[in-house]
Amino acid sequence: MAMSQGKEELLPEDVGTDDCLTLYTHIYSPDLLKDRVAFITGGGSGIGFRIAEIFMRHGCDTVIASRNFDKLKEAAKKLSVASGRRCLPLCIDVRKPESIAAAVDETLKELGRIDILINNAAGNFLCPAISLSFNAFKTVMEIDTMGTFNTSKVVYEKWLKDHGGNIVNISATLGYKGQALQVHAGSAKAANDAMTRHLAVEWGPSGVRVNAVAPGPISGTEGFNRLGGVRAEATGAFQSIPLQRAGNKTEMAHCALFLASPASSYVTGAILVADGGAWLTSANDVSMLLGISSSKSAKL
Ligand code: NAP
Repeated sequence: MAMSQGKEELLPEDVGTDDCLTLYTHIYSPDLLKDRVAFITGGGSGIGFRIAEIFMRHGCDTVIASRNFDKLKEAAKKLSVASGRRCLPLCIDVRKPESIAAAVDETLKELGRIDILINNAAGNFLCPAISLSFNAFKTVMEIDTMGTFNTSKVVYEKWLKDHGGNIVNISATLGYKGQALQVHAGSAKAANDAMTRHLAVEWGPSGVRVNAVAPGPISGTEGFNRLGGVRAEATGAFQSIPLQRAGNKTEMAHCALFLASPASSYVTGAILVADGGAWLTSANDVSMLLGISSSKSAKL
């Protein structure tokens, strides 16, 4: 555990790149997910990479699935070396159900089961609604929302409906206050939160729990870099967050671990907000955020 600056609370270790931790202290039993299999979309980078690592450090084998196979292969190698567990890299585009079906078949052939699905793949950028192209809005909805539905449906049909298991969707708090410059991602994640509850209702009787983690600003991620996190940190903007700091990827992985494990056995349809209280107090100032947006490339 690393000590946060001058504060009592202990934070879990993290590194800012897509590399494994050099040091890790277990909070939960190292056997919590022993011999389980997790299918993690977008598991080759950022929060998804760290979720894969933490799950593997708890005895789980993983599949990391997204579009860039070279990136996935490199990530899978690092993850297996660090944890001693199997990690299968598979190419999918969550917008294409047939690519998901092929990857799920391959997973069942290679690893024999799927206990956990993490819907983490997403795309985001800052853009005022007036400048957002129809295609950009549609693309974010297709990746974030339809991608979550497509993957959930395929994994449920091919395995979870007969064996039970856990789905954890990685959400966001953007829609809670109508965050400026984020109508695309905020709308997509709001739809996903509704989907989390709908699927929890329909699939609970099959022994499938469906929950979500809604991260705030998380350091060491593409999202953080693209959405003004570095600048916010430099200008002290995180002082207005109740916990006065950005979160780290290991903290998000611990939330996903809780929801994907028997530690949360009576929890379904829940959205676990893990943002240090940020959405309650952080600024939603269009002109200030437009300043950040104009210094970023905001295209898909
Ligand atoms: P990231 O590293 O960019 O992760 C996104 C992943 O999604 C990438 O690995 C990407 O891999 C994959 N992906 C994108 N489009 C895809 C597609 N069509 N099909 C399959 N995979 C696709 O971002 P991150 O910041 O860690 O974000 C992870 C999750 O946390 C997202 O759901 C995001 O909305 C959420 N979140 C993040 C923050 C934050 O501060 N970072 C805050 C709130 C919520 P390929 O390029 O290989 O496809």
